[in-house]
Amino acid sequence: MQLAQPESLEAAAAVLGNGSVALAGGTELVPLLRSRLVEAETLVDVRGVVPRGVHGTTIGAGTTLAELEADPEIPAALREACAVAASPQLRSMGTVGGNLLQATRCWYWRLSYPCFLHGGSICHAREGAHREHAIFGNEHCASAHPSDPAAALLALGATLRTDRRELPLADLYRLPTEDDRDVTALEPGELILELEVPKPQASTYLKAMERNRFSFALVGVAAARTGGETRLALAGVAPIPWLLAGPDELDRATPLPGTAYKVDLARPLVRRALEALG
Ligand SMILES: Cc1cc2nc3c(=O)[nH]c(=O)nc-3n(C[C@H](O)[C@H](O)[C@H](O)COP(=O)(O)OP(=O)(O)OC[C@H]3O[C@@H](n4cnc5c(N)ncnc54)[C@H](O)[C@@H]3O)c2cc1C
Ligand code: SF4
Repeated sequence: MQLAQPESLEAAAAVLGNGSVALAGGTELVPLLRSRLVEAETLVDVRGVVPRGVHGTTIGAGTTLAELEADPEIPAALREACAVAASPQLRSMGTVGGNLLQATRCWYWRLSYPCFLHGGSICHAREGAHREHAIFGNEHCASAHPSDPAAALLALGATLRTDRRELPLADLYRLPTEDDRDVTALEPGELILELEVPKPQASTYLKAMERNRFSFALVGVAAARTGGETRLALAGVAPIPWLLAGPDELDRATPLPGTAYKVDLARPLVRRALEALG
C-alpha cells in the first residue's frame, strides 16, 4: 500500500480515485482497511489540502471534533453533538468531514455478511438482531446512521463545499436502492472541503445512549431555530441522518419489532429539544 501526501488540491485530485482512498484522521478508515471492508492501493493523506479551523460561519472539513466542541463560536447543537460523540482520543483525531462519511455500525455489515448494503438481496438485520437499527427509511436496509454531528448540521441547515460543487448537507445523503447501494451522493475521489453553517437563534442536541459516555446514539435529536424556522434532525434512526418534519412524523415511523422502543425514546427527546429552543 502506498501513502500519498499531496500539498495542493490539484495534486490530491490527480491521485484520488482509481484504487485510492482519502485519509484524514484515520479513526474510521484504518479499522475498515484492517477488516478488509475497504480495499485501497493508495491512501491519500488529505490533511495538507482540506481546510482546518473555523472562520465565522465556515468550518474546514479537516477540523477535529475536539476543536469544534471547544469553540464558543460554534452553534450549541454542533458543539454538543461533538462533545457526546466517541471518546476524547477519537475526537482529537477524527475530523468533521470524516465523521459525515463514516460507514454504518450494523454488525452484519461490519462482519461482511452478504447483505443488501454489501450488494446482496436481503437485510439480515430484519430477521436477525436489530435492536440498534432503524425506525425510518428501512425498506431495503435497516441500518442506523451513527453520526451525531451530521444530525446537528442537518438541523442547522448546513451546506457543503466540495472540490467540485456546493450542496445542502441533506443532499449528501441518499437511501440505498436496488440500483445504487451507496448512502452518500459523493462522487469517486470528490473531497469535502468546507461546511457553511448559518448562525441559529437557538439550537441543541440530545442523545440517548446505552451508557453515558463513548456510545453511539440509540436516538440523537438535534433542533435548531434559524430565521424563525425550526428544524429537527435525528441520528440513529435511519440509514441516513433523518430530517424530521415535526413531532407527528414519529407516528408514521416504520420500526422493526426490536426497534419500536426507539419511537418511544424519540418522543420525549424531541419534546425536550423543542422546549430547550424556548
Ligand atoms: C469506537 C468509535 C466510536 C465512535 N463513536 C461515535 C459517536 O458516538 N458519534 C459519532 O458521531 N461518531 C462516532 N465515531 C466516529 C468518529 O467520530 C469518526 O470515526 C471520525 O470522526 C472520522 O473522522 P476521520 O478524520 O478519522 O475520518 P477517516 O477515518 O480518515 O475517514 C473516514 C471516511 O471519510 C473519508 N474522508 C475523510 N475526509 C474526507 C474529506 N475531506 N473528503 C472526502 N472524504 C473524506 C475517508 O476516505 C473515509 O471513507 C466513533 C468511531 C469509533 C472508532
Ligand atoms: S441493516 Fe443494512 S447494513 Fe445491516 S444487514 Fe441490513 S442491509 Fe446490511
